Amino acid sequence: MDVLNYQCPNCGAPLKFSSQTQRWDCEFCQSSFTAEQLQAMEQAKTDGREKAAPEETGPSGEEGQGKVYSCPNCGAEMITEGNTAATFCAFCGSPAVFPKQLSGEFAPEKLIPFRLTKEQAVEALQKLCKSKPLLPRDFSDRNHIEKVTGIYVPFWLFDCSMSVRLDAMAQRVQTWSDSHYRYTKTDHYRLEREGDLEVRGVPTDGLQRMSDDMMDALEPFDYSSLCDFQMSYLSGYFAERYDVDKEASWPRAQARIERSARALTEQTLHGYLSCQTTNFQTSVFNKESHYAMLPVWLLSTQYKGKNYLFAMNGQTGKMVGKLPLSYAQLAKWFGICGGLGFLLTLIGGLLL
Ligand SMILES: [Zn+2]
Ligand SMILES: [Zn+2]
Repeated sequence: MDVLNYQCPNCGAPLKFSSQTQRWDCEFCQSSFTAEQLQAMEQAKTDGREKAAPEETGPSGEEGQGKVYSCPNCGAEMITEGNTAATFCAFCGSPAVFPKQLSGEFAPEKLIPFRLTKEQAVEALQKLCKSKPLLPRDFSDRNHIEKVTGIYVPFWLFDCSMSVRLDAMAQRVQTWSDSHYRYTKTDHYRLEREGDLEVRGVPTDGLQRMSDDMMDALEPFDYSSLCDFQMSYLSGYFAERYDVDKEASWPRAQARIERSARALTEQTLHGYLSCQTTNFQTSVFNKESHYAMLPVWLLSTQYKGKNYLFAMNGQTGKMVGKLPLSYAQLAKWFGICGGLGFLLTLIGGLLL
């Protein structure tokens, strides 16, 4: 089937996954369903359809380019970008999931469901703005938030074992003196460290258009709520399939793992006046990757013709992004600080 939309069996309205109840709620008749119930309903629907119409017609359009679907709710045409796996109908607003986009090599293994709502994302951004004194006054108005999008971002989670070897030179210096001389004794040490590390779940996002720094900054995700992937979680959100595969993502993950491994190993070099690492080698084995969908709120805002993008971890609420600086506020701020400095000098002067 090309387009999945989950309909309330009681009233026919679209069902969306609710981050608050962690169930699929109907906004119209207040019915609510669990993952198991939804799966059973889907299964029954698919069985019926397969009997009725064995052959399927695929969406039109080339692989990797825009595709055209028709909305199961209102019949309007939906044109999607190449990697879109879940979106909304532009005409009736009902959620639409494209299961074929996430089949075969694109089928995710795991997913962390959204925990936080759109309203909470907007609130978090406003709170962030309030805590920044150098922000232009009018920036924090709600009006400037142009678009808030809940998107499941494809991530690769890497596991591996790593053995590390580190060589370092270190020095210890002792000084003492007698009535005639001052003595300095420098001991030189050659240090060797060897160890094994077990690495679990180092994430790298699998979307080219997503800023790597921004996605890294959203970490950590709490993996204890990773669940098996189910298409229905995407209903009510946007989702994309990866366009950076695991081989292409690995070097970035590897660099991160090596940096951490080196820092960990260097922590064991203590008790010396100075230490220089002369050699650091790693070898990786048992490399594995898991393909998971992780929840991200994207908030785009415009200010004085410039676009600003923020992202919030849809599970933990961690907010990242760069805010504009107000030069007027900056001047005022420095004015206050400068004035304060002057006042303090004055008080200092009086006290003396
Ligand atoms: Zn309903
Ligand atoms: Zn529609």
